[in-house]
Amino acid sequence: MWLTYIVTFIFGACIGSFLNVVIIRWREGRKLCGRSSCPHCQKNINVLDMIPIVSFFLLRGRCRHCDKKISWQYPLVEFWTAVLFTFAYYSLAQAGFAINFISLIFLLKVFFITAVLIVVFVSDLRYSLIYDKVIIPACVVVFVLDLIFATFFVPAAQTFFLAGTIMYLKSAIMAVAICAGFFLIQYWLSNGKWIGAGDIWLGVFMGLVLGFPNIIVAMFLAYVGGAIVSLILIALKQKTIKGQVPFGVFLTAATFAAAHWGHIVLNWYLNKFIN
Ligand SMILES: [Zn+2]
Repeated sequence: MWLTYIVTFIFGACIGSFLNVVIIRWREGRKLCGRSSCPHCQKNINVLDMIPIVSFFLLRGRCRHCDKKISWQYPLVEFWTAVLFTFAYYSLAQAGFAINFISLIFLLKVFFITAVLIVVFVSDLRYSLIYDKVIIPACVVVFVLDLIFATFFVPAAQTFFLAGTIMYLKSAIMAVAICAGFFLIQYWLSNGKWIGAGDIWLGVFMGLVLGFPNIIVAMFLAYVGGAIVSLILIALKQKTIKGQVPFGVFLTAATFAAAHWGHIVLNWYLNKFIN
């Protein structure tokens, strides 16, 4: 039992290491393949210096060759990816996760969604950017996977073939229309000043991941969280109202929270009405 958690944690840390590469290289329009090198001295990094989380501390946060500081983004993203993957696995295990092919695909889907949220969170926080190259394909992947799941693997209350598909499509279309539609209107009204084009795609992704009515929970959490953090930053005189923390940061955090909270609600509902 504990072993699966440790394996999940290590797997998450390795994926986190890959997410760092995506976040940093795609900002500069570079390719993902090719060896990692120090941004200061350009020397290639040894394989032993690329162990997620561990290497950063062994090197005391400095490049082995030129002694310049390594960004804290590396260990933080690796650590948080590991933690969130482990948490995702834990909540599925609590919900009666069985080890079979379908559950495994479902788990990988949850990991994928978590990874996308982490990339958007970090790139928006650090560079105020949401990469189209990440968010648009992510929407397609989640939509196709959920459509397959809803059609073939959700027997609950299926009275006829495609009943699950129709239920999923209704929920997804409604959620996307509410979330992305709301952002799109703000985008038009403000000429892209209040909200960026990337947020609209993020709205589509959120709608597909959460469905209706969970999307309302996420939007509520994002706006409340955004307001609280902005007030704190203003009180600390860190930021003016104009220079807020990018909204994608709150949207991704709220999506993660709503996805897991929604899971608990769904489980409660299934246990109460089906068993
Ligand atoms: Zn260096």
